[in-house]
Parts: sequence; C-alpha cells; structure tokens
Amino acid sequence: MSTTRETVFQITPKTDAVSPEERAALLANPGFGRVFSDHMAVVTYTEGKGWHTPQILPRQPLVLDPAASVLHYAQEIFEGMKAYRAPNGDAQLFRPDANARRFRKSAERMAMAEVPEELFLDAVNQLVKIDAGWIPDPEVGTLYLRPFMIATEAALGVKPASEYKFIVIACAAGEYFSKDAGPVSVWVEERTVRASRGGTGEAKCGGNYAASLTAQQEAKEHGCHQVLFLDAAERKWIEEMGGMNIMAVLDDGTLQTPPLEGTILPGITRDSLLTLARDKGLTVKEEPYAIDQLYADAKSGRLRELFACGTAAVVTPIGTLKSAEGTHVINGQTGDVTADLRKTLCDIQFGRAPDPHGWVHKV
Ligand code: PMP
Repeated sequence: MSTTRETVFQITPKTDAVSPEERAALLANPGFGRVFSDHMAVVTYTEGKGWHTPQILPRQPLVLDPAASVLHYAQEIFEGMKAYRAPNGDAQLFRPDANARRFRKSAERMAMAEVPEELFLDAVNQLVKIDAGWIPDPEVGTLYLRPFMIATEAALGVKPASEYKFIVIACAAGEYFSKDAGPVSVWVEERTVRASRGGTGEAKCGGNYAASLTAQQEAKEHGCHQVLFLDAAERKWIEEMGGMNIMAVLDDGTLQTPPLEGTILPGITRDSLLTLARDKGLTVKEEPYAIDQLYADAKSGRLRELFACGTAAVVTPIGTLKSAEGTHVINGQTGDVTADLRKTLCDIQFGRAPDPHGWVHKV
C-alpha cells in the first residue's frame, strides 16, 4: 500500500445511526469517554505484506483470537488527540503530526509494526470527516480521538507479533475536570512508581496506565482528583501525573517543568505551552524539581502556581498537594499565568486566534 499519496479508506457507513435529535441530546452533556461516534477506522498489518485493507466501518466490537498477543503480553499503544469546531463550523486538528510521530516512537519501543505518519494522519482525517457531526459545540467540548494499535497474532510464544490492527475511535468530550470545582487536589504517590529509567515511561502504552491505577485509587481514597508520581530511583523528584504533565510558575516569572529523560511522556500540550510561554517572554526551565523543595516553595510563596497539562485536561490548576505527611496548599484559585496560557492555547486550538506556529490542520 503506498503511503506517500493519500490512503483511500473503503467506507461502510453505519445504517442505524441515532437520529439528529438524539445525537444533539447526547452532545449537550457528553462527559468524557462515554459518548462514541458512529464509525471507526481500521487498518491491518501482516508481516511480509505490510499495512493493508484500510477501512472505515460502523463502530463495532472486535473479534480477537483468545491467544492474541495483546491479551497476554500487552503489545498495545495509543494516542489521544482532539478535533475542534472552529467559529466558521470547520473541523480542525491540533498538531496531529506530533501525535503521529509519538505513535511511531511508541511502536518502536514496544517492538510493534510502525504506522507510517501519513497513514496515521489519513485514518484520523477520514474518521473526523465522516463523524464530523459528533464534534460538540466549542462551548461544550471537542471530539476526542483515540488512535490505538494492538497485536492480533494468535501465538503464545513471547516475541514481537507478526499481525496488528491500527484502529481509530472517537468520542465526544466535555470538560475532563468540572469547571465549577476550581483547582484540583493531587495525591503525591510515594509508594508505587509509574516508570523508571530504561522502562517504558516515554511510550504511550497501556501497561503504563495499568501500573498507575492503584495510585489513582489511593488518590481517590484520600479525596484527591489526580496523582503525582515521583522518580523511581530516589522518590525525590516530581515527574508527571497519571495522564498529564505538570508545570510550576515561580515568583520570578519562571515556568518550570521536569525535563524529558525517558520516564515522562513527552506531552504535546507541554511542548506547546513551553513554546507559547517563550513567545510571551517568560523564562522557561526544563529542570528537575524536588518534591521537598516544592513544598518549601509553596510555604514561602516562591511557588505561585502549579498546573497539570495534557490533551484531555488542557490546562488545569492544582490547588493542593496531599501526601502521607499532610496537605500543602498551593493556590486557592486559578493563577494568572495558568489562566493566560490556557486561554492562548485554547484560542489557537479552536481557531479563535491566529496560529503563529502552523499547529492547526483543517480536516
Ligand atoms: N503524561 C501522560 C502520562 C499522559 O497520558 C498524557 C496524555 N497523553 C500527557 C502526559 C500529556 O500529553 P499530551 O499533552 O500529548 O496529551
């Protein structure tokens, strides 16, 4: 299959889709990850043949052999990105090429077949085109896109599989955290770790998330919305959250975030915010930040703002950090820098402001 020209997906449209009225009702308050669009893109890989049979199908259950490698050895990767409705009604994507690149790198780390970036982009584009009616109004949210790949070969030997499916599904997405709730509270996880040097932390593979769930459970038990992981070696340095990167605003105007050294997912929101912050003249530091220093800075006032950032959560202020030792209050309200960065990013994503870095792709 050629990948330099646009891949033409064979389309089988859904025939029993919900009525426009039912869809409008679902899109009025979609929550996150439950209201799915009508279709899915599916492409198959077979060793020796490469990627073939690109299809857009009605969204439906998958048929898998019970010996499929993904079910036993977790050869699975995914991406998270969004389609936004611009003021003129057009659908647009934000830095989809960066998702395609990260997907390829994740595949490489998990010894999976690599999806050519053009094929990744064609699949996403064609799904958004056919399901554009599922993009909520901008005041409500976006269409969250979930490209993923699974190893489908029926073989129990531990080895990289020879067959894969690359699939894209989509769901309408409202706010990840309730807007009315204000800044979120975060549990600082000191018991388990998410990733270690040489591990799979910088790949977007399902296993990383499975490993983070006990900490997420613990966070909930302590009344927290999210969890912050520390480094595996010393439990000293802040790394990232369960599904977001973390950034701090210091009293001298510096924006600081942990460096990418293999254990942290290289967030596209993270990268975009660092660029936007530099555009605004802020000092940007990708440097390690010790959790004890962070607590001390919260107490002294040196730490002005702390926020989580990612595709789903966009930019979410962190109000308190809780750990086994106690509670540290950062900021009772959304800080000015946090609010300004969030607005600048969202205005570009939704096409309300010029796009100086060429990040927006019309569908
Ligand atoms: N860290 C983790 C662990 C994540 O799952 C995500 C979400 N993809 C992020 C950070 C943020 O990445 P992005 O900005 O590309 O969504």
